[in-house]
Amino acid sequence: MAAGIYDQFNDTRTKLLQVYKELKDVTNDLEITIYDVNDTFRCAAIEAPEIPCCQTELTQKKLDSVMKMLNRTQMKISFFGRNSSGKSTLINALLGSNVLPSGMGHVTNCFVHLQGTDLPEGTCVTAKEPHIIRPIHSVMELTSALQDEHLATNSVVTVSWPKKECSLLARDVVMIDSPGCELDNEFDVEIKNQLKDSDVFILVINAECSLTRGESEFFRKVKNDISAANVFIVINRWDLIDNDGAPEKVKNQHLEKCKEFMRNNTHAPCKDEVERKIFFLSAQEKLRQTKPSTPAQKERHKAFATFEKALARSAFNSKCIPHINTAMDICGRLSENIEKMSKSISDTRKRIAGTKAEIKRKHDSLIQELRSNISSIEEEVQRTVFQFENNVSEAL
Ligand code: GDP
Repeated sequence: MAAGIYDQFNDTRTKLLQVYKELKDVTNDLEITIYDVNDTFRCAAIEAPEIPCCQTELTQKKLDSVMKMLNRTQMKISFFGRNSSGKSTLINALLGSNVLPSGMGHVTNCFVHLQGTDLPEGTCVTAKEPHIIRPIHSVMELTSALQDEHLATNSVVTVSWPKKECSLLARDVVMIDSPGCELDNEFDVEIKNQLKDSDVFILVINAECSLTRGESEFFRKVKNDISAANVFIVINRWDLIDNDGAPEKVKNQHLEKCKEFMRNNTHAPCKDEVERKIFFLSAQEKLRQTKPSTPAQKERHKAFATFEKALARSAFNSKCIPHINTAMDICGRLSENIEKMSKSISDTRKRIAGTKAEIKRKHDSLIQELRSNISSIEEEVQRTVFQFENNVSEAL
């Protein structure tokens, strides 16, 4: 179980939230400082170019929206594929316990939103009657709730399962089991509502069947509404093929079809990455905790562990990495703005300092001029006095 990485996600999320709060404070401080500096210049009647508020409003908006996303602790993993491909079994295998009923075929034609609860008992709520919370004590009860004849096709059932019974649910991982994608009903709107903000998508294919147009079609509907489709493909029930001898041919056929699906329907990652996102598994073996004895079983066991790790890492990446990059980006922009402001202040200071020196020079020369004027006047006076005395003594 790659639970550790989900814990890491929560740690990183908490740290990132702190970083974003600090960035918000710095952005506020920068805005106030810029206002103060502009105001100081204005009050002192110093002519200085107004320092622009450097898009702080835009940065604040961005920070708020990311914080909102980071406050959503849930990591949403959506499963899609044809009926009986093993979606419910795979979810149970990941949860490590039999939470969802399996083998119900077309009975579960609704979206099952599975999340953790702190309550000691499981509950189930339908979109049709959101005020009625039905207690669920066992898979049998959930089965009968899902079989409820009043449940419309493609409606949404929210199952809250005690966190203490499932480590992944305790870590706020939410799993969405979608109706089989061979359904051709009008349920585009519901697909988009339910799946659009998923962190990871998992296409589950029955190893005994080939990837159909229906599956591609289903994903195409979601794809246009989601940003970075993070898709994994699980070729499930692989035990039924692998035990059949010579599975290599079937494996290659699946690989070719899946690669084509990835190329056509996802923001195609590079070739190596595509192959790293395709897994040949047996959800049932994993759920039953069958001890691997044959080389083929050991291989599937190993593949499941790799799948869990890749899934957790990918969910972590899609959840945290963009926010880390945004934080770095905003840090860069803020320090650029601080540098711009500092340069503007020092330019203005230099200019003021230059002006002061010029005034001093001007004053000095004015004073100097006054002084020399005075002294020439004094000399003149003295000369006049001397002249006068001379003239008087000559006249006497
Ligand atoms: P869903 O309709 O896609 O949710 O499929 P389910 O999870 O209900 O599984 C359909 C049937 O396939 C059930 O009878 C499961 O027990 C069986 N099944 C699921 N996964 C495996 C697997 O890995 N190996 C085998 N042999 N059977 C499986």
